This record gives sequence, C-alpha cells and structure tokens, in this order.
Amino acid sequence: MSNKNGGCWPEQEAIDAWWRRHQYELKRDVTKYRVERDGRVTKLEAENKELREWCKATRCAYCDETIGVDDDIATKLTEHIRICSKHPMRAIEAERDANKNRIAELRAQLDEARHENTAAWIKTERLEAEIEGLEDING
Ligand SMILES: [Zn+2]
Repeated sequence: MSNKNGGCWPEQEAIDAWWRRHQYELKRDVTKYRVERDGRVTKLEAENKELREWCKATRCAYCDETIGVDDDIATKLTEHIRICSKHPMRAIEAERDANKNRIAELRAQLDEARHENTAAWIKTERLEAEIEGLEDING
C-alpha cells in the first residue's frame, strides 16, 4: 500500500496509516460477507435444485402420488385419475355400481311379481269360468 508501484499521492501516507489500523477489521468484514454470501448461494442452489425436481413432476391432489411431467402429462393424469383410489370419482362409481345391483334385484322381484300376478289372473279366469258354468246349469 505504499509507493512501490510508482504512484505518489499526497494522501498515500494517510491511506497507508488507515490501512495499517483497519486492514484486519476490513478483511474480517469482507470475509464475513463472503461466508454469508456463499451460505446464501449454497442455500439458493439447493432450493433451486429442489424446485427443478419439483417442476419435473406433479402430484395427485388426492393420494399425493408423483406423476412425471413431460409431453404426455395429460394422458398420465387421466390414467391416474381412472385408478386413483382416493379420487372422488371412486365414491360416485361405487354408488353407481350399488345402484346397478339394486336395479337388477328390483327387476328380478318385479319379474317374479309379474309372474305371480299372471298366475293369479289365470287362476281368477279359471275360477270365474267355472262359476259361470255352474251358474248356467243352475239357471
Ligand atoms: Zn391419486
């Protein structure tokens, strides 16, 4: 910090004196700043890496399964929604299936009731015919 490089400022002596008094303090502060900066850089690089990884995939909102993001994401999401056990559509499908089963049971009962009704109608016709036949004989 002296005149070794040919510079000759009138203030050089004052600058050198200041440097001798404050160089450790300045180096300490610069080092502290560098360490803090490097720590922030390291932290931001880790966060950036995590975000890049996070951007490569999306997660199912219902089961949290990771689905890779690429050009085929719409198809992958659609396929996952079809099989995701926690998707609200599963409850609707279960209700639909239960309703289908109940409809089949009711149709079977209806068919049985119609058969019984037909048999009763045939019996009614036969009994009425027999009564009419006997009433005709009795006048
Ligand atoms: Zn899912």
